[in-house]
Parts: sequence; structure tokens; C-alpha cells
Amino acid sequence: MFEKVYEKTRFHSPLKGFELDEQDIEYRKDPLTGKWSRVNIQRSQRVKQGEGDFDYTELIKRSRKNCFFCPENIESSTPKFSSNLLPKGRITRGETHVFPNLFPFARHHAVGTITEKHFLRTGEFLQSQIEDTILASLDFCRTVYAKDPAAKYVTFNWNHLFPSGASILHPHVQITLDSRPTYMTEKVLMASNAYMEKNNRSYWSDLATEEKKLGKRFIASSAGITYLASFSPIGNNEVLIIFNDKTAFTELDTSDSANLSKGVINILKGYEELGVESFNLTTYSGPIEGSAFGMNLHMRFVSRPLPRPYYTSDIGFMEGLHFERVVETLPEDVATIMKKQFKSD
Ligand SMILES: [Zn+2]
Repeated sequence: MFEKVYEKTRFHSPLKGFELDEQDIEYRKDPLTGKWSRVNIQRSQRVKQGEGDFDYTELIKRSRKNCFFCPENIESSTPKFSSNLLPKGRITRGETHVFPNLFPFARHHAVGTITEKHFLRTGEFLQSQIEDTILASLDFCRTVYAKDPAAKYVTFNWNHLFPSGASILHPHVQITLDSRPTYMTEKVLMASNAYMEKNNRSYWSDLATEEKKLGKRFIASSAGITYLASFSPIGNNEVLIIFNDKTAFTELDTSDSANLSKGVINILKGYEELGVESFNLTTYSGPIEGSAFGMNLHMRFVSRPLPRPYYTSDIGFMEGLHFERVVETLPEDVATIMKKQFKSD
């Protein structure tokens, strides 16, 4: 199931007095999609000239003024849904407010605040905040789908801090509903379908079983959710969350939302330990109420560069233009760190 190719590069390194140096590169193939990634952990030790310590105080102070997502402005500064979609205009649950994205790129594109606090670091989020955010997002998806059944492809996403693509500091998620899947969702749907047809079993349950047996990338399995470090990651410090018997995001019920929130908090604690401050999270969901033979709802968490002035991006020519990821973190090490967080439950 897990295909690897090794390459060794040799050169005289000025870092070692021009002695002959060797670096190992692992090429890893995603068992489902065939997408390759490259792992060279020595890369994480390379000098990044753009980085240095960063004090958030000034940034928080500056962006806090007139922040649209802060409690005193949210009512007057964020958009409202049309009254035929949502008569109240917005969805509110706990500290979460769901409202339309002011500059959408999906048929239905909402933003949801996670907290009333203007800024929280990775380890500071509460399980109740995540849970309310998921429940309010599910409420939004179900409301939209009831009015527009063609909008059956949903994504639930979190970009945290500027290196992840977030343009606003205040923690928030984004929810999209479209009539067609994203490129990656379609690839995964087709590949899951083909795997099921060929093997008469779900790829996702085979993956979970196999990883549990091997142990080195398996993190935890609890209440119908399996957590793994991806064998062939799309990003650094990648955690894959697989729902053992769900196909679409909208199938999550209140107890699934509570369990998922607990898992998210554990991953964030692991990220805090790894020194991660910025990250992306997304879902890959089958169509709502549609047939998605062999597909399991799953999510991916990846870390992004530290939010420093003039930081080095982790998307270069290989990632951006060849769609092949160079990863600096060994998935097996990510699993070790994450396992500790889940064990303390
Ligand atoms: Zn704010």
C-alpha cells in the first residue's frame, strides 16, 4: 500500500568544511491518488533569512481597531444573507456568528467567527468554541441545501493567520457550498470509487486498518473517527482525520461534532508543542444525500510558515506549479507528537 523511492544526493558542503555530505530524499506516493510528495527533513534545518522573532502586540493593537469580526462591530459591519435564505440574516451560536463572505468565490460562501476574542494562539482555543463553530456551520449547510439542493458539495475550512491565506487576524472559518466538487474532492471521489470497485472494500477503512497495524503513523481512533499522520502529505505536519462511517460533512450529528472538536483541540495542542502558529484545515466531503461509492468524509490539517515579516513561504515552484509537495516534517515524527495529546484524554 505504501510506496517509497529513495534517492541519495552527494556534494561537498561548505557547512561541513567541504567534506562530502549526503542527503536522503524520500519520494512517497499517496496510496489513493498516486500523488507524490518528497520528504527531506534536513531541509527544515536550512537557513531562512526572512525569519526572526516576532512580537504580536503591535499587530493585534493595529488590527483590533475597527475589526469587523469583533463583538462591537459584527452587527453593523458584516453582511447578512438574503431573507429568503435566512430570515434572521445570520446564524449565531455561542461566540460563533455565520454570515456571507463579502468577497465570495463559491455559490454559497459563508464566514464564521470562532471566538469573540480578536486573537488566539494555537493552544488557546476552547473545545466549546470549536464545537459551536462546527454546529453553526452544519446549521448553515443544512439551511442552504434545503433551499438549494443543487448546492451539494460542501467544504468546511479554517485558515489561521496570514501565512495560511487568512486576510483577517480574528479567528474564523469559511464554509462553501457548490454544485460541483473541487478538483481535489473530485479526484478523491473518483479514486475512492475505483478502489471500491476493484477491491470491494473501502480504501479509507483499509487505510485505517493498515495504519493501525503498522502503528508508526497511527495517532488515535475514537468514537468513529480515525486520526493519522499522512504517509504522503500535502503539507507539513499533516494530520488526516477520517470519519469511519460518514460520507458528507452534513451527516455529522451533535455527538460527532463534540468528538471532532475534542480531536481538533488535541491536534492544536500538538501544533503548539511543534511551535506551529499558522495552519490550514479543510474537509473532503461526498455530495450531500448523493451516492459516493467508497468515499469517506475526511479532513486535513497542515501547518504553515511562522507569521513573521518576510517569512519564507512553503509553496515554491515544486508545490505551486508541479503540484508535488516538498515536506520538511517526517510523518512518523508528527504521529509521535500527536499521539501524546490524544493519550492524555
Ligand atoms: Zn477582531
